[in-house]
Amino acid sequence: MVYKQFKDKNLSTLGYGGMRLPSVPDSRGHIIDEPEAERLLIHAYNSGVNYFDTAFFYHAGNSERVIGKTLSRFPRDSYYIGDKWPGNFVDPIDDKLYVDVSNMGMKHMTFSTPAEIFEYQLKNVGVDYFDFYMLHNVAESTYDLYTDKKIGVIEYLLGQKEKGRIKHLGFSTHGRYETIDKFLKEYSDSMEFALMQLNYLDWTLQEAGKKYDVITKYNIPIFVMEPVRGGKLAAPGGEAEEVLKNADPAATPASWAFRFLQSLSNVHVVVSGMTTMDQLKENIDIFSRENPTTAMEIETLWKAVDKMASFVPCTSCRYCCDACPQNLDIPMLIATYNEAVNEYGWYVNDILDTLSDDEKPGACISCNACSPLCPQDIDIADIMRKFDDLTNKP
Ligand code: SF4
Ligand code: SF4
Repeated sequence: MVYKQFKDKNLSTLGYGGMRLPSVPDSRGHIIDEPEAERLLIHAYNSGVNYFDTAFFYHAGNSERVIGKTLSRFPRDSYYIGDKWPGNFVDPIDDKLYVDVSNMGMKHMTFSTPAEIFEYQLKNVGVDYFDFYMLHNVAESTYDLYTDKKIGVIEYLLGQKEKGRIKHLGFSTHGRYETIDKFLKEYSDSMEFALMQLNYLDWTLQEAGKKYDVITKYNIPIFVMEPVRGGKLAAPGGEAEEVLKNADPAATPASWAFRFLQSLSNVHVVVSGMTTMDQLKENIDIFSRENPTTAMEIETLWKAVDKMASFVPCTSCRYCCDACPQNLDIPMLIATYNEAVNEYGWYVNDILDTLSDDEKPGACISCNACSPLCPQDIDIADIMRKFDDLTNKP
């Protein structure tokens, strides 16, 4: 196993993600197949994996419990647990914190303070401190909650760090890079690491390259989630897979994805949610040596991406923005459109939900003041129309 130094810790570059543990059939992933999950977690530990990542709602709260219970058989200082304060599901109403995780197989829960949530998690995992603790998903939809001094989430967690109940405080994010930048302008001194979605497909699609650069600018080590984009990059299929096979017949698609991450110097841990022993063994083998992709291999990856996804080639130069009478954030909308046409899901909705109607693509009046300014020749009004149609699909 390759390790990387993080402050006083020597972290395995492969981390175990606790959101895709093996589960009982027909339980919609809510009930973990505990004997099998234990077998995998113990094999990972015995193979040198020492970072284990979980969250409040993974597997309906069972991920925290099973990971904590399984690892408790080993010396507490021989593994590191990363958990997250679930701000992405917290609604503050009348001095209460409502946690709505009903669509995650859990009951609605009500807490009075950030402390009550933290204590609940310590108990669920069965530990008296977290090695790594994050604000879960700092993004447009959670920014106000996390930075609300009256609720005081960050202030409370910094206090817990002083008491040694959090060894390292950080944040995870699916937010836009502007939001990450805004957050770090104020809080970079308090944040020791960031967990972000990063893989060669999202490098452009979710502007992960820009997010990587922003976080790196603040000298904050990056932990990676979704390294194979929920499995898509482990089996891209079609022409994309052919591109990779032609370049290296012996390499698996997953190894391309992981080796791409090894080529990024600020990536410290790659958290992979492994469900089967085969996946685990393949990943342990990949992370047993450093073998980053070469510049030429990265060109191969971009060719595979071209076969996998279609993009509007906006470079976010913002030349068009001042001309827009509707004051639309055109590059942000195009980036979201790129994601939507390739995989319309919660990430797109999360961004759209934070926009008022006059900020959405439907607010475009097709005046065409923008396109003549675009060095990429993008028909922006047409994209806005298509995006609006997509969001208004029944
Ligand atoms: S066409 Fe739409 S996006 Fe472009 S300037 Fe006019 S209103 Fe703004
Ligand atoms: S001018 Fe073109 S490339 Fe630049 S931000 Fe606008 S749409 Fe994107």
